[in-house]
Amino acid sequence: MSQDPTPTRAPIAVALDAADLATIRSWTRSVAPFVSTVKIGLEAYCRDGALAVSTAREAAENAGFADIGLFLDLKLHDIPATVAGAARAVAPLRPDYLTVHAAGGPAMIEAAASALDQTRIAAVTVLTSVDDEVLARVGIIGPSLDAAVRLAELAVSSGARAIVCSPLEVAAIRAAVPSDIVLITPGVRPAGSDLGDQVRIATPAAALAAGADLLVIGRPITSAADPSAAAREIAADLHGVWSRQAPLVVVSGPSGVGKSTVVAEALRRAPDAWLSVSVTTRPPRPGERDGVDYWFVDEQAFERMARSGELLEHARYAGHHYGTPRDPVQSRRAASVPVLLEIEVQGARQVRQSQPDCRLVFLAPPSWEELAARLRGRGTESDDAVRRRLEVARGELAASNEFDDVVVNVDVGASADTLVGFLHEHGAP
Ligand code: 5GP
Repeated sequence: MSQDPTPTRAPIAVALDAADLATIRSWTRSVAPFVSTVKIGLEAYCRDGALAVSTAREAAENAGFADIGLFLDLKLHDIPATVAGAARAVAPLRPDYLTVHAAGGPAMIEAAASALDQTRIAAVTVLTSVDDEVLARVGIIGPSLDAAVRLAELAVSSGARAIVCSPLEVAAIRAAVPSDIVLITPGVRPAGSDLGDQVRIATPAAALAAGADLLVIGRPITSAADPSAAAREIAADLHGVWSRQAPLVVVSGPSGVGKSTVVAEALRRAPDAWLSVSVTTRPPRPGERDGVDYWFVDEQAFERMARSGELLEHARYAGHHYGTPRDPVQSRRAASVPVLLEIEVQGARQVRQSQPDCRLVFLAPPSWEELAARLRGRGTESDDAVRRRLEVARGELAASNEFDDVVVNVDVGASADTLVGFLHEHGAP
């Protein structure tokens, strides 16, 4: 369960845009201890082909990091048959990611995905060097945020399993595509560094906080006087984002298990913590207050929030939409206030993707019979609603092994104390 509180390798793909193989070798050797992935792009691949890849892999292996990921950034954009042929041609290199331009269209993306089923096809939405004016001149309907979301949705529905986008679009795309889609952001620059030709940018920490999974970083590392030190510093900065933030504890579990009671008791015992107020399209139950129990909104308002990236996660549950507003969670954590979310399982999975340092806690019933009895005894739902909730509960119980901790709710006070312990703990779970 617990992991090294100061891990050094960060989710960074270093762009090895080097002039020769010797430089690829030395950069890889320098950065491999601090980054998860190396990226071979057009410059190296057009010159050295597969040798560029094997050189980087060997250098990583010799440095003791044989597991380094390979991002083959060829940005393919051609007719489907040609792209499928190119994808098959690079299959022996076993890339973890291969890029194609989303603008090549669904058939082209599908062709790449079916040619390489072991590789995540990463669809490039709008290049980070392009601004809204250029986008308009090229004839793509903007602004770039809308274009990027539209292209991301199209790519994912055509088989892409990763999306390349600017850090400024990450939050909106994270909200628009399934949580298992990897979001890759170039255009990250440490504060105060040279922008080069990038225009739509953010700092590495901000990109990560917005929901990016993998940051592409080139010149800030490779043009540094000491690439190893530069990589180490950015990796430490990213880990700092996680370790400086107050804990985020996510409680899930089947309806009727007693989540609300346990959470209320935990908050009584930990008054410094804050419980996020969710947005929902479910009508209020008697006694529920807007802004206290939930923010009650209609379908249109919910959809607008989800589309614009305002929600950290959202899910449909028993016929209604539920979601967690993103900003209040992030600003409280940054201000050292521990945050508690009480959400269902699909939402918990999404939070894991965008906030990898969160702690997922599954509250389990002592037995299935007890859960069914509690749900029926609650008397707030119709028979049909209880039946639907029990159906969902079966699936939720099966997901308990995806959580960091399973707390069997035998005694409310004991379960609450466990949550309080997590809220006051420092460092990732
Ligand atoms: P209820 O309608 O009983 O208040 O909640 C139904 C389910 O939705 C519960 O499992 C509750 O934890 C979950 N839920 C409440 N708010 C959110 C949210 O913001 N996101 C997600 N994914 N689930 C939520």
